[in-house]
Amino acid sequence: MHLFQYRRDQLFCEDIPVKKIAEEVGTPFYLYSFNTLSNHFKAFDDAFSPIPHITCFSLKSNSNLGILSIFAGLGGGADIMSGGELYRALKAGFSPKKITYAGPGKTTEEIEYALKNDILMFNLESSQEAECINKVAGKLGKKARIAFRVNPDVDPRTHPYISTGLKENKFGINIKKAMEEFKRANAMKNLDVAGVHEHIGSQITKIKPFTDTVKRVKEFIKELKEEGINIRYFDMGGGLGITYKDEKPPHPRELAKAVIPILNDLDCTFIFEPGRVIVGNAGILVSKVLYTKKSGDKNFVIVDAAMNDLIRPSLYGSYQEIIPVLKKRGAGSMVVDVVGPICESGDFLAKKRKVQVLRQGDLIAVMSAGAYGFTMSSNYNSRLRVPEVIVRGEKFCIARKRETYKDLVRGERRLEL
Ligand SMILES: *Cc1c(COP(=O)(O)O)cnc(C)c1O
Repeated sequence: MHLFQYRRDQLFCEDIPVKKIAEEVGTPFYLYSFNTLSNHFKAFDDAFSPIPHITCFSLKSNSNLGILSIFAGLGGGADIMSGGELYRALKAGFSPKKITYAGPGKTTEEIEYALKNDILMFNLESSQEAECINKVAGKLGKKARIAFRVNPDVDPRTHPYISTGLKENKFGINIKKAMEEFKRANAMKNLDVAGVHEHIGSQITKIKPFTDTVKRVKEFIKELKEEGINIRYFDMGGGLGITYKDEKPPHPRELAKAVIPILNDLDCTFIFEPGRVIVGNAGILVSKVLYTKKSGDKNFVIVDAAMNDLIRPSLYGSYQEIIPVLKKRGAGSMVVDVVGPICESGDFLAKKRKVQVLRQGDLIAVMSAGAYGFTMSSNYNSRLRVPEVIVRGEKFCIARKRETYKDLVRGERRLEL
């Protein structure tokens, strides 16, 4: 459930017409609903209330400080992938005790930064990384809590670019070889081997890949405990999908109902790292039609948002629903390609899409754009990154300003050689 609804043919975000915000901030812009964000977070977190757990929101799906502060305020934790995300997480007010740090290529500087802030746990992906963290922790006189990310070789049945738990993926270590790694790390002086981590992919819309993985990892945790390795955390990653078009993903409650009985007899704190399921449908991208044209038998609608603002359609061929901000009775519909101003044929938001007939100046809403939208945006073609706006009831706040030309060249200089 999200709070972008029509009222008398006008698209509203909570209690404000989207058009009104567009008039005040200009287009394009990302628009988020506060109550949708907090409802989604609570729905997920509450679903797992029967077991000891921490819901660590995955910053890479959306890392706007305004949004993060909502989840921090609800007692959530953060799942980070870089020093930059750690900086954001701390700024947003997350407790370091609820921060997990994933990713296959952490640098020495990043490891040091995280250790100095006493984060909950590093999720490791290689034995060299374990050696590196052991060394840095020794230098700082600290003991680093770590987990290894294991690769259970389960097919999440999602897009190959966002599937991560197969043995051919770069992530984690093969669960069959993982025991050796855990033992080796357990013998290192400055490591506290505290957990097991897995994350099999994103936009997963079935329960079975999750239950298969959980069963597999549970057995492994039991083996680790038998070896005397004191596992206290089972980090199940993220990956629960959302509805972009006609997918019917399980509600977090159904996922919880399926996995909790499996987890019940494990004496662990469970960590979840949801991203998309919390923010995906809580945000839209609002854009304006600049021009329309016909080329051969194709109709193009050229809008002011582009692949640099929302890359999912270009990168994954993803479907993003597009709806008019104002419905016009009797306007009729047409099949169009919705494209941006960038000089790339791959610059499109939708292809062969049936939409209400659009004219110059009309506003459109690209739905389900809250996850992997702004965070994947860039300055390609020297386009300014767009503002992010959060609505709460009848009020809105600009949580990130539109960039300026000055921002574009910050840190650059003309050559003086
Ligand atoms: C991307 C990622 C997540 C979040 O995935 P969603 O599909 O957005 O829920 C969680 N954990 C790890 C390790 C990730 O890489």
